[in-house]
Amino acid sequence: MNPGNLFIISAPSGAGKTTILKQVMSELERLVFSVSHTTRPPRANEVDGKDYHFVNRDVFKKMRAQGEFLEWAEVHRNFYGTSISSVNSHLADGLDVVLDIDVQGARQIREARGGDAVFIFIMPPSWDELENRLTGRGTDSRETINLRLNNAKKEMDKVDLYDYVIVNEKIDEAVAALRSIIIAERIRNRRSTAGLPITFPTSS
Ligand code: 5GP
Repeated sequence: MNPGNLFIISAPSGAGKTTILKQVMSELERLVFSVSHTTRPPRANEVDGKDYHFVNRDVFKKMRAQGEFLEWAEVHRNFYGTSISSVNSHLADGLDVVLDIDVQGARQIREARGGDAVFIFIMPPSWDELENRLTGRGTDSRETINLRLNNAKKEMDKVDLYDYVIVNEKIDEAVAALRSIIIAERIRNRRSTAGLPITFPTSS
């Protein structure tokens, strides 16, 4: 069986990535979300093991020392990492895996796998809109919002690292764009639109 595709998805926080991803994940089969480890405390609506594996800094550092991460980065003063085990077995089973990671992590995977992963960047339509979205969601302090805006500037400079760029002006269009990319990459990988190996029964 052809191994699955690895989709790397990055965006400045507030670009709408989580909403777009959740929608596409609910629509497409054979697409698995890789749950990262983080030292960030959970937000009110987040579930351990589903949104993230929430761990303390000691556990994270131990995993890092044992080479358990495919990539890792410090983002907004917290550690985040993708464990190798959460990715490789799914790919080997022919499932597509989505990594929601920052630009530093994406660069590590680009260096390790070259073209053997699909890199997608989601951007907001404007700075004003990004600030509105970050302020409007009411989950973060002013200090956190400023930190995120600063990081967004740096991340937007790295857009050339990515194969595809989606501008999230209208959520439905951004969802359609991401879905189209995933389907196109499946077909390129000689699989059906549903992500299954192509079979071509011959008459006996
Ligand atoms: P948040 O704290 O808002 O959930 O995520 C902050 C940033 O960390 C986002 O840009 C997200 O994509 C990134 N992130 C989440 N998990 C990982 C990971 O495993 N590795 C890396 N490098 N970044 C991650």
